[in-house]
Parts: sequence; structure tokens; C-alpha cells
Amino acid sequence: MITIALSKGRIFQETLPLLEAAGIIPREDPEKSRKLIIATNRPDVRLIIIRATDVPTYVQYGAADLGVAGRDVLIEHGGEGMYQPLDLNIARCKMMVAAHPAFDYQQAVRQGARLRVATKYLKTAREYFAAKGVHVDLIKLYGSMELAPLVKLADVIVDLVSSGNTLKANGLVAVADIMDISSRLVVNQASLKLKRAEIQPMLDSFASAVAAG
Ligand code: ATP
Ligand code: MG
Repeated sequence: MITIALSKGRIFQETLPLLEAAGIIPREDPEKSRKLIIATNRPDVRLIIIRATDVPTYVQYGAADLGVAGRDVLIEHGGEGMYQPLDLNIARCKMMVAAHPAFDYQQAVRQGARLRVATKYLKTAREYFAAKGVHVDLIKLYGSMELAPLVKLADVIVDLVSSGNTLKANGLVAVADIMDISSRLVVNQASLKLKRAEIQPMLDSFASAVAAG
């Protein structure tokens, strides 16, 4: 049995065509079903539906053989125990620093003053500002980061931005670009050795589907 870990929403939706290219069709729609394990047309392949941030954990411990996770999530996790053989080029967005337009970010960064940064992405934020020599107080949040500068919880946020509509709706502006984000296929290292005959053809199908993209 091959177990593939996916999260609901955009990753599931954007992974569907890649699964189909590998001849894998889910039997149910996770948006409608409450099931956490979803069978497919292939008796030897099943999907597990978990939170995006939990995907690397299931793959690391081999509870899932394969998974799809954002670069943002993989950086925070660390990627131990898994290979990242393929950038699937889906769920694309940017990791950015954003602030209220009244906050002089360039000045704050230059002066080397302490910057208060609210984010879900502690490791990414810590490494980004450390590389710039900026001292930061990191404030961990789990969502709705845009609120933090508005109520003066933080000077800036580090968050994912795609259209920029959420920033705009909350009167924030992007002030720095940290990195491009997309989702990658991750494979448990032991699974690839022990189940290569089953897994390698899937990797090849995903790779050609991405290339044909
Ligand atoms: P939730 O939004 O339910 O709290 P989540 O943020 O963990 O959960 P998603 O919003 O589905 O889950 O994000 C999953 C992955 O998709 C992220 O890890 C990231 O790589 C990518 N992603 C997040 N937001 C966007 C976006 N606005 N546009 C494109 N890709 C995104
Ligand atoms: Mg989200």
C-alpha cells in the first residue's frame, strides 16, 4: 500500500491533475466527505487528508510514503527523513514582509533597531532578518497575521502573499520579498528504498505532468 498525504483546499485541488496523470483517481472528495482516509481507483494507493503543516510529519515518520507540502511548511519543519525530488510548481505565492504604510520599514531596518515581527513562520523570519543583521522580537501567530500591525502587536508581519488582496483589504503594504513559494513532492527516505518499484513510476508520471504543465 502506498499512502499519499495531502491537505484540503488548494493543494488537494492542484494535485488532482497530477494524480490523474499517474492513473490515481480519488473515490471521494475530501471537501464533502469527513473521511481522513480516502480510497482511490487503485487498490494499492490511498490518500490521507491532514493539515498542511502536518504533512511533513507524517512523511518523516513513514506514516505516509509521499506527500505534497509548501516550501514554507517544509522550511519550518526542517525536512528531516524525506527527499524532495520534485517541485510541483503548484500553490505558488511569495513569502513577504508587510507593514502599515505609516511604518518606515527601510529606516527601521537601517537603524538596527529591534523590529517586532508577527508570523506563523518563525524559522523563515529568524533566518531572513539574521542574514540582514536586523534584531527581531518574533511573535508567533497561527493565522490572520494582517491584524497584528493594525493593533500594534507588531511592526511588521512575515506572511504568504498571492494576489495581495488580503493585505490591501487591511490597509497593509508589502515592504520586502523573502522568497518564492510553491509546493513540492516529499518522499519518505525508507519508503523510496523499500517500495521503489511502486513509487518510482509515480514520481516519473508526476515529473512528466509537471513538465507538460
Ligand atoms: P488554513 O488556511 O486552513 O489555516 P493552511 O494555511 O495551512 O491552512 P492552505 O491555506 O491551504 O493551508 O495553504 C497550504 C499551502 O498552500 C501553504 O503551505 C502554501 O505553500 C500555499 N499557499 C498558502 N496561501 C497561498 C495563496 N494565497 N496562494 C497560493 N498558495 C498559497
Ligand atoms: Mg491558509
